[in-house]
Amino acid sequence: MAKRVNPMAVKTNTTYDVFEAARELNVTPATIRNWIKDGMEAMTSSKPYLILGSAIREYLRSKKAAARRPLKDEQLFCPSCRTGRKPVGMKVTLSAVSPKTDILKGVCQRCDGTATRMISHEQHQTFASIFRISAEPNSKD
Ligand SMILES: [Zn+2]
Repeated sequence: MAKRVNPMAVKTNTTYDVFEAARELNVTPATIRNWIKDGMEAMTSSKPYLILGSAIREYLRSKKAAARRPLKDEQLFCPSCRTGRKPVGMKVTLSAVSPKTDILKGVCQRCDGTATRMISHEQHQTFASIFRISAEPNSKD
């Protein structure tokens, strides 16, 4: 497991060279160079490369989001269990959160908490075949 890096160790409005960034974040300069290769925004037109603290934070945040375990098709995310869970009876309600996105809500099989999953309209058919979807009681349709 990779060691934890604290994005708050860098200041958003400060620029760092590779060595400064490495020191602040307690990683090796090679790690910082790898992040740049991996897509972290940096001013690489001249040496030393300079990296804005906000770019470092942004990069680390997106890495963290990508590392989150993806849900299986039949799962919702339960914030209490902090993982994917099947809803009780595979029953979920659906309500719109934006013109393109809906949220599925069900009851976590494990803890009885509310588990949710954001889905796009394009995914409706897929999830309709997995869950027993009903509209929220206060929904217009
Ligand atoms: Zn749960």
